[in-house]
Amino acid sequence: MQPTDRPADTGTDSTAVEGVVAPNPGPLTLDGTRTWLVGAGSVVLIDPGPALPEHLARVQAAVGGRVVDAILLTHAHADHADGASAAARAFGAPVMASSGTLARTGLAGRVLRDGDTVPVGGSGDREPIAGTTSLQVIETPGHAADHISFLLLPDRWLFTGDLVLGEGSSAVLHPDGRMSEYLASIRKLEALRPARLLPGHGPPVEEAAARLGEYRRHRLDRERQIELAIETGSRTVSEIREAVYGPLDPGLRAAAEASVSAHLVHLRERGLDAPEPGPGMFETLGPPSEQDGQLEGGTP
Ligand SMILES: [Zn+2]
Repeated sequence: MQPTDRPADTGTDSTAVEGVVAPNPGPLTLDGTRTWLVGAGSVVLIDPGPALPEHLARVQAAVGGRVVDAILLTHAHADHADGASAAARAFGAPVMASSGTLARTGLAGRVLRDGDTVPVGGSGDREPIAGTTSLQVIETPGHAADHISFLLLPDRWLFTGDLVLGEGSSAVLHPDGRMSEYLASIRKLEALRPARLLPGHGPPVEEAAARLGEYRRHRLDRERQIELAIETGSRTVSEIREAVYGPLDPGLRAAAEASVSAHLVHLRERGLDAPEPGPGMFETLGPPSEQDGQLEGGTP
């Protein structure tokens, strides 16, 4: 069966939203990456997902015979962007992403900047008419430096990519992930007062304000745990990781330490006497068989 998310009510008669879940489950991807189809007549795709032919086939089936106006990327991580070239070819549609995402992926496409709008349901190269549906670009670094989110207007549905997930917590991994930027991006999204969150992984979130607040508090709680670990004698990244996370599967230690390091950078930015961060890691997403166990039922 083809897994999809169809939010129960669309909020407007003119906008249809559907999520197609890619078959790439794992500790960092939860049940898999979601490719979002947005639009009633023609559609805009958000995050084509991993380069898996079976996933592209599912997306093609969901698109049906409709025109795809644009393929948008939230960020360059492989589980969101690797399928972009094949999707652009299959649908004859332009890629649109932040300049950082285009640089990292090597894709040609239109650069999206904070505040730009992408029309939905119309011709891709036409500016939206007042009152019609569009996606507004929101720059939201923190999980990754190149990360953007999309606010569907007028519904105020927010496509959050990897900044906020449908369950668990999002990965902020040093050095690409920056805690100061992450917290600022969460506050920026809270100020938008979204009606619903549509994440890149996990189910849609109806209690948008509550979830954003939980994510902000989770990060601050974790940072306080790390401060306590330092105050009680942990002096290295691995000692702090052990103190905060306890015994961990070896396959998850690097991600946990990259998360600890992102907090250490933030503590030092705050002027606190924190140990040097470790080298960190870039988010890697191997096949599920290589990934055992989970960090506290979520991601680091
Ligand atoms: Zn990511």
